[in-house]
Amino acid sequence: MPEHSPIGVRPSDATHDDLIVDLTTAERRRRFRSGGDNVALLRVDTHAGGLADQLRHALDVATELVIVTDPVGHVRFANRAAREHLDLPDDAQTCELVDVLLHGPAGDAVWSAIATSRAWHGERSVPRADGSMMHLAISVRPARTPTGDTHGLTVIAHDRSEHVALERALAHQLTHDALTGLANRQHLLLQLDRTLADPTSCGALLLIDIDEFRTVSNSLGHEAGNRLLMAFASRLSRAFPGDCLLARVGGDEFAVYCAGPQDVDGLAARVEQAATAPFTVHGDEIHVSVVVGIAVVAASDHPQRGAELLRRADAAIYDAKSRGRGGFGVFDPAVGAVAAGRLTTARELRRALRDQEFEVHYQPKIALDTGAITGAEALIRWRLPDGTMRSPISFLDVAEDTGLIIPIGRWVLEQACRVAERLRRDLPRTGDIGMAVNLSVRQLGHPDFIEELAQVVCTSGIDPRRVELELTESMVMDDIDTSTAMLHRLKQLGTHIAIDDFGTGHSSLRYLQRLPVDVLKIDRSFVSGLATDDADQTAIVTAVIHLAQALRLKTVAEGVETAAQLAELRRLGCDAAQGYFVARPLPEDEFLALVAAGPIW
Ligand code: C2E
Ligand code: MG
Ligand code: MG
Repeated sequence: MPEHSPIGVRPSDATHDDLIVDLTTAERRRRFRSGGDNVALLRVDTHAGGLADQLRHALDVATELVIVTDPVGHVRFANRAAREHLDLPDDAQTCELVDVLLHGPAGDAVWSAIATSRAWHGERSVPRADGSMMHLAISVRPARTPTGDTHGLTVIAHDRSEHVALERALAHQLTHDALTGLANRQHLLLQLDRTLADPTSCGALLLIDIDEFRTVSNSLGHEAGNRLLMAFASRLSRAFPGDCLLARVGGDEFAVYCAGPQDVDGLAARVEQAATAPFTVHGDEIHVSVVVGIAVVAASDHPQRGAELLRRADAAIYDAKSRGRGGFGVFDPAVGAVAAGRLTTARELRRALRDQEFEVHYQPKIALDTGAITGAEALIRWRLPDGTMRSPISFLDVAEDTGLIIPIGRWVLEQACRVAERLRRDLPRTGDIGMAVNLSVRQLGHPDFIEELAQVVCTSGIDPRRVELELTESMVMDDIDTSTAMLHRLKQLGTHIAIDDFGTGHSSLRYLQRLPVDVLKIDRSFVSGLATDDADQTAIVTAVIHLAQALRLKTVAEGVETAAQLAELRRLGCDAAQGYFVARPLPEDEFLALVAAGPIW
């Protein structure tokens, strides 16, 4: 036998490509075992010295796995690397390629690929001798005789496990948040895109925001903030074990997607429970509350992209936040429309400010004993370019959220002071009429507010005692210490302070006594029940008036719409009234004309 004899010969009446294409794995094995079917195999001459030994040695020191088979995949030779890594016996000739390397359904794909393209390259994970997985880049080439006949297969495999591990680590870094180990925003969106591609899929996406996280981070430091985020992430992982996908999508924002039909109340309760117990960070106990926005995926309402689903959860969280601290909101299409509308409103508000589309209207207040106009409330109006008027209720919250309330509020204050001064100049007899301006919580919290107010008052020339600032109960009570200090500073300027919509917020009578307040404005909802059969309403208004008198505060009834209400308020000893019965909010000139006309009775 020649030293370098071929390892196989072709059957007499069929090409090996035919064989490879036509035979299933099982059939190949059967034929091989029965030793039939014309396939005459020659063996590597293991006893031959010289070049054959040299080749064997060269192959044995190679780091690549080299396997040589007959045309149907029966192993004729395996080098040392292949034997060691794949745990093959020294006499590897009892093995079949499909068993050691190309097992499973992919094996058949390899055979057909070889048949058509003459070579196959691919990657596969196979178990090592020690049970760990090895990632191999594999080439399978038909070995051909000089006449083109296939007499076997040469398999060369290269261990890429280290590369693959590195690639995977890198991919993990790119798709996961380094701090918490949860998926990052991009990865969440990608996974959601994949899930939502199935139009029958259903599930729920929760967006979770840690309330006051910034306060924690600012007061205890960045490192403490990070620890809180890590601790929260691990509690979240425990609350949602299994198939739910968890992600950190922003600074203090987390997301959880749970596939399948979901009970949204149950999901929100799980998040709330995870946040309830205090977190211990650097020895400090930190209490947090969370806001959760939930968007449900159902067959009837099935967003197509992850980004859309995330936007829906965002709209829901926005809605939940606008209702106060903590709690959760569930997306419904109407909320989505409102949220989209908010963006448009913000854009339009900037234009309105630039193009001076705002107006201020003035609603008079009368003294209930004399009928004389003793004051007015400045109320903002927005006249759109097409002439329609928008109510402040429809845009003030967006102005608050965007911070546009600061320049808008300053402008209203300037107008109100200017008109009050015009009144004094044009109608000297009525010169001491007060002017009330509504303040937003954002203005009150602004560090420059007092200074700006002092500036506007000074520039307009108005006596600050004629300026009345209206604040709601919740603005004051939410952070009582800060607002007490703030109200004292406002009082030092000489301005008066009124509590607006009194009775609708969570008023604390104990604090009311301590605050430098001058006026209580009794909310319209109580006034509307006066002079009706509703004795409770009368009792409440009576109590408020008595309380105010005890605290030496003036009372103004809001939203007085009928003569009967007015008469009842006079009887109960209320000081002043404001409402459509007296006059609607009026444009500047009409308001001045009304004041010029004198007392209304
Ligand atoms: P508010 O301060 O309680 O103002 C009274 C609201 O009741 C005004 O609504 C007024 O038009 C309305 N009103 C007055 N009399 C009656 C009545 O007899 N019946 C009824 N049904 N309503 C009456 P408006 O002008 O829509 O303002 C709504 C709220 O927007 C105000 O409530 C105030 O909180 C806020 N606001 C208005 N202008 C400003 C502003 O310049 N700055 C800030 N921060 N808030 C403002
Ligand atoms: Mg008001
Ligand atoms: Mg009010």
